[in-house]
Formats: sequence, structure tokens, C-alpha cells
Amino acid sequence: MNILVINCGSSSIKAAVINGISGNELLTMKVERIHDKPLVHINGSTIDCIGSGHEAALNFALPLIKDHLNEQTLSGVGHRVVHGGNKFDMPVLINEEVEKVIKEVSVLAPLHNPVNMLGITVARSVFSDLPHIAVFDTSFHQTLPRRALTYAIPKQLRDKYAIRRYGFHGTSHEYVVGLAADYLKADLNALRIITCHLGNGSSVAAVEYGRSVETSMGMTPLEGLVMGTRSGDIDPGALVHLALEEEMTIKDLSQMLNKKSGLTGLSGVGNDMRDIVEKSSKGDDDCRLALQVFTHRLRKYIGAYTAVMGGVDAIVFTGGIGENSAVIRHRSTQRLDYLGAVLNEDKNNDVILSNEAPVQDFAMNHSRVRLLAIKTNEQFAIAQETVRIIEKKNKVNTKPTIPIAVSGRHIHLTQEAVEALFGKGYELTVKAPLSQPKQFACNEQVTIVGPKNKIERVRILGPTRSKNQLEISRTDEFFIGIDAPVRASGKVENSPGIKLIGPKGTYQMKEGVICAWRHIHMTPEDAQLFGVEDKDIVDVEVSNGIRPLTFGNVLVRVSSKYALEMHIDTDEANAAELPRYSEGVLNKTDGSAKLITKKKKH
Ligand code: AMP
Repeated sequence: MNILVINCGSSSIKAAVINGISGNELLTMKVERIHDKPLVHINGSTIDCIGSGHEAALNFALPLIKDHLNEQTLSGVGHRVVHGGNKFDMPVLINEEVEKVIKEVSVLAPLHNPVNMLGITVARSVFSDLPHIAVFDTSFHQTLPRRALTYAIPKQLRDKYAIRRYGFHGTSHEYVVGLAADYLKADLNALRIITCHLGNGSSVAAVEYGRSVETSMGMTPLEGLVMGTRSGDIDPGALVHLALEEEMTIKDLSQMLNKKSGLTGLSGVGNDMRDIVEKSSKGDDDCRLALQVFTHRLRKYIGAYTAVMGGVDAIVFTGGIGENSAVIRHRSTQRLDYLGAVLNEDKNNDVILSNEAPVQDFAMNHSRVRLLAIKTNEQFAIAQETVRIIEKKNKVNTKPTIPIAVSGRHIHLTQEAVEALFGKGYELTVKAPLSQPKQFACNEQVTIVGPKNKIERVRILGPTRSKNQLEISRTDEFFIGIDAPVRASGKVENSPGIKLIGPKGTYQMKEGVICAWRHIHMTPEDAQLFGVEDKDIVDVEVSNGIRPLTFGNVLVRVSSKYALEMHIDTDEANAAELPRYSEGVLNKTDGSAKLITKKKKH
């Protein structure tokens, strides 16, 4: 599976042919000086381009790739697209409809999306027989909860202009958390990871159990950390002040914030971290300040994201600076003992990453939090995603239907909790069997008591389990005054607790209140039929409701103990106005923007 990966940026065009399975690179190409006299560097030789500008450069350079490939066949083309707005939460096979949507969201990234689109248009005409896949910088962060993505400005303006936080560098954040989980031999769904992508552009992400829940870049890639030439966070009031006092125009401000700020603005010696580290050691005060501001802000984010996730298991450093600068890693991770991260200075100084050894741990052995330097590879990540979409395209069987069940609030209890609530030695009694084998609704009910309200007669589902788990809807959460995370069943770590009242006593659940991630139970045979695997995330189309709709982000759970059924909560069913006994079909990857499935890598 050799994939042509194209990154058509505003000042350069980069392309590579990469094996989407092994990562072997067969060809590299870079076009520079696009607006002047473009130069094409391809596999070690340099060729003058005829004409100038993106379109001429692409039309000249892409056919050269074809000439260089000889007999090596390409299986597909992966395109980096900077902004997917809120339209794409995963890579997608490009067709006319997808192109239209990418153009629509270009208003959010006027410097990037139009040139990305040009790359797609020219490549689709040069490589017209191949499937083309768009991979978005924003899509990994589409799981950000509302509280994290909303700016506190008037709703009417937010809605009208789609002003919200989107986050970027998603391909890199997702790639390195995958490598981190592999390295730690842990399930990604059991880890809380803070990823620091520190390059010319920099961002941090909080990845909680495989989902991005916070990230430092916002509506544009300007928010957050100090970057090569970008300011990152700044009080918007300072900009108003500059506009008034210095009479700076919007264009001036944009130029200042994007091109003249960050490390460049602070250090006075440019955006190269190597120079800044070097000069700071020789006494240059501006370079010292640049280092301090850069790492101080990063430490602030690490602390904040630990708080957001209620803890952290690994902190990852990647990107040109994160991979190569022991000084920055040291300054950012020293004195983090309070959150369980203890730096090993020798190991940090010795980090050298390579394709063969892309991950190194630089924490002390006794450090509870692992500190990892990881070599990112966005091009390979795009090639991998492209292969995945091509493979899925042929695989998903769309014909069998999936029954949909609405699960109301309910609780699973341990025997200990049952006895505390119903008396010593008490055993749950069966009211009615459930569709999942050996599961039953009990006659017993409990009262749940939140800080704001209580809810009586919450049904217990049997049999008893090893962990307590209360599954409620968002509406319930607000009613009782509790903030519960969206989780797959069984993932109760670090979720809130709640007080329960039964006829014979009370019981304090220490954790276990969750809002269930909508999911499909299926057997391994079903999974084979649908062409999906455990922990895949799929879209399910439902057409027998009031109107046709698609449930995105549905978790697949495969076990021989399950029967085929999709579970949604009451809020979701009410919003969708689903009749009883609804059925859905898995969306197929037939090229339409919304019809996609995604396999989580872990
Ligand atoms: P990227 O955008 O990921 O290619 O990263 C580019 C940044 O990485 C530049 O600021 C480089 O100065 C920085 N970088 C590369 N090598 C080192 C190094 N050994 N020490 C510090 N910074 C480095």
C-alpha cells in the first residue's frame, strides 16, 4: 500500500510516497519559492519549475512524481487539510460533496484551506484513477466537550460565524498517543495523556482515554503556547489597546501576532529554538526571557490539563523542539513531583529518537507519570489513515440492520452496595430479562442523591458487578447537579461518586457516575459480517424516525456474550424522536462525507 501524501501549504508544497503499513519512504518532494521562481526538489535533484504560483507549481511537480515511480504502483493519495470545521471528525474519501464542504469551511482558515483544496483539485486530475483521502488537522479534537470548545462571547455571534475552539495538530497528537500506548503496553482507553507538540507551531492536548478533551489551539492555530512566530495566548484587551493607541489595523495586528511574535518577538534572534538556547546560555537576556516564557506557559498548560483530566499517566514531548531539546523538556518537567512526574536528568540528556526507536522514557523508574519523548511522523500518520479508509471502503457490509434500544437511567451495583442498601446477605431478584444474555432488570430500585436534587426509583440491573456504575443522561446530570463524563461501560475511573438510599441503609459510591457513550453490542460473528472490530467507532444511519438521521461516534463493543443491539440514552432518543423498535444500518464508506467508520488504534 504505497500512498502519495500531499501537504500543500501556503509557502511550500511537500509530498512523499510512503508505504502506509511499514512507513518506508520511497520518494520525497518539496517545492519552494512558490510565488517567485518555484524550485522542485525531488529525490535529491532540483528542477526549475515553469511558471509560478501554486497552480503552476502543482501542475509541474505532481506529474514528476508519476515519472519517478517507475513500476511502483500507488494505492491512494492522502491530503493534509488544515481545517475541517465541525464537519469532519475523521478522515474521509474525497468526492464532489466533500470538496464542497472543505470549500465552505475555508472561511475559518483562509490562508490554508484554499491552497489545500488546490492541491486536491490538481492531484485528482493527475492521479484520477486513485482514491483521494482528506486528513484534517482538526478532526481528532472533534471530541472536545462543549465546555472546552465554547468561547464566552454572545451566542448569536458564536452561532453565526461558527466561532468556537477547533484545535489543530490533531494528526500528530493522535499518532503519538498511539505510540505512547504501544510503548507502555497499555490500552489507550485506560490512559490519560498530555501531548506537547512543540515545533515551529506548538500545541498541547489532553487525551483522556483515547479522546481529545482539551487542546491549546482554538478557532485558529494562534491560541495557546508561545510558537516560532505566533504569540499564543494574549489578553484581547491588549489588541484593542494597540489598535487605539498605535492605530494598528486588523491586518497589522494579524501580521504582528502571526509573523512577528512568539519566539521571534521575544528573543530578537528569530524563531529557531537552537539559536535561542545557545544565546541564552551565553547571557543574552532576551533569549533567556524567551525560554522562560515558552516553558512557563507550557507548565501552566500541563498543570491545567492534569486538573481537567483528574490526573495524568504520561506526558509526551514531540515536534522539532520536543524531540530534540533536552533543555526545554527539563525546564517543562522539573518540579512536577506534586503530580507524580519525576524527571531523570541523565535519561533526558541521552534522548535520541529515530525511526527504529521513536519513543524514549525519560522519567525516573519510580515516577508514577511516564515522561516520554516521541518522534512524530505526520506524513506516515496520513498514509496510515489513507490506507485505513481505503480498506474500510471495501469492507463494511451495510445490509444487516441493528436494533436500537433506548436505555433509561439505571444502576449496576456490587454485592457490597446491595447489602448496604437492602440488608446483609440480600440478593437481587429478577423482574424481567434484558436483551443482553444473562442480564436482567431487578425488582429493586434505589434513590440517587445529588447536590441539587434526588431521583427516586432508579432501576438496578443485575447481576451484581465488580464495580458500581450509575448511567444517567445529560438532563439527569443537570437535574441532580453532577458533572459526569461520557464513558464506555466499565470505565468508571475518576468519575464522580454519588450517595444512594435503599430501604435498609445508605451507600456512598466513591466513583461510577457516567453518561454512557452510545454503543453497539455485537458478537464476533456480527463484527465479521459488518467488517468492524471491538472499539471501532462507526456511524449509524436511522431512517425510520421522524426524519432520517445519522448517529456519529458510536462505539462498537464485541463479545461472544453480547447480542446485536445499539444503546442510546433517553436524551438522544428524544432529540431524534425515534419510535420504539427502531433499527439502524452501519454507514458505508462509499465516498459520501458523512458515511465513515473509524477504528481506534487501541
Ligand atoms: P518542527 O516545526 O516540528 O519541524 O520544529 C522546528 C523547531 O524545532 C525549530 O524551532 C527548531 O529550532 C527546533 N529544533 C530542532 N532541533 C532542535 C534542537 N536540537 N534543540 C532545540 N530546538 C530544536
